[in-house]
Amino acid sequence: MLDIKKIRADFPILKREVNGKPLVYLDNAATSQTPQQVIDAIVDYYQNYNANIHRGVHTLSQEATDKYEQARNKIQKHFNAAKSHEIIFTSGTTHSINLVANGFSALIKKGDEILVSAMEHHSNIVPWQMLCERTGAILKVIPMNLEGELRMDVYDELLSDKTKLVFCNHISNALGTINPIEEIIEKAHKVGAAVLIDGAQAAPHLVADVQELDVDFYTCSAHKICGPTGVGMLYGKEEWLNKLPPYQGGGEMIAEVTFEKTTYAGLPHKFEAGTPNICGGIAFGAALDYMNAIDFEEIAKYEHELLEYATQELLKIDGLKIYGTAKNKTSVISFNIEGIHPYDMGSILDKLGIAVRTGHHCAQPIMDFYKIPGTVRASFAFYNTREEVDVLIAGVLKAKSMLL
Ligand code: PLP
Repeated sequence: MLDIKKIRADFPILKREVNGKPLVYLDNAATSQTPQQVIDAIVDYYQNYNANIHRGVHTLSQEATDKYEQARNKIQKHFNAAKSHEIIFTSGTTHSINLVANGFSALIKKGDEILVSAMEHHSNIVPWQMLCERTGAILKVIPMNLEGELRMDVYDELLSDKTKLVFCNHISNALGTINPIEEIIEKAHKVGAAVLIDGAQAAPHLVADVQELDVDFYTCSAHKICGPTGVGMLYGKEEWLNKLPPYQGGGEMIAEVTFEKTTYAGLPHKFEAGTPNICGGIAFGAALDYMNAIDFEEIAKYEHELLEYATQELLKIDGLKIYGTAKNKTSVISFNIEGIHPYDMGSILDKLGIAVRTGHHCAQPIMDFYKIPGTVRASFAFYNTREEVDVLIAGVLKAKSMLL
């Protein structure tokens, strides 16, 4: 059992008030809050060993390099990657996906097919569209049903020997659906296609084992898993990372530079041009330490209870509709009340100290599918409580009485 009181004490921000009310933070799918342990790691870096890495002989530089590489090893261990150089530090999921999409320009040709799921975040749609524009490849969409589950029967039909890549999120940020990525990966591999799984929303709720999944690329952002913004990771199988050309040129990513020819460094440095977010990488490692000390299985169990309770209570409200009712989902609830614009609902909830997200959640195709402008999205983390669900329900009822 999680000791929620003790856990909440780790998060200084949860003590603050918003508009004179205790903060009820239910926007965790956008970004999670940061525990003191991670804040301490950030302060420790700037107070004690702030230095550029990999190229200094002096003590501070070596200390920073060691801590940064230790963080890479923590990420490797967490996702069970076979080798630490299969972990590339990036600025986040968006950067990771662009890195892969850019690299595939060299490996994709006109007429090749790329499959993308209907429930992607824009960051897992636009880079592939740009890739298709550059190469003449064709983007095809795996549709979903009204519950917000992928149509795996159509996926089977779409797969062919023309399919070169499949991209899908592990968990949908707008609906909370947990996608059957094991099946997606296995079937893609049967036709020789590579698979990238966007784990941005999965990382805070479960641990993906990249070797067991046999996934080619997996990515996440630290800020959704109690780490800082502006840092994330790309896991890539060594054989794939070796095939992809570098994404950016600059310092750190080279073996030798002359004006006639440059040769590139090996993995992971080939993809890490310039001074990285050193402090961010180290704090990412500290966030994983924090989460693992709590235990992901307990986290998933507790969040599921919150999801079930909040779903049951929200559905008691007349006129309220939940989008995304997949059997397999995480603690994300997207909803609307008939006749109320999500923005109006979100603004009133904010006045009550309740932080939810409103809008299309960077997933406009999902909103088009349901023919709505957007939703109100409440997303729960392991530090949220049943009492906070009650505050949300009371807030929604109050907003409803004011707006209708
Ligand atoms: N993919 C999914 C499923 C997301 O939820 C998000 C962020 O909300 C992203 C990608 C983009 O992450 P970032 O903005 O950290 O690059």
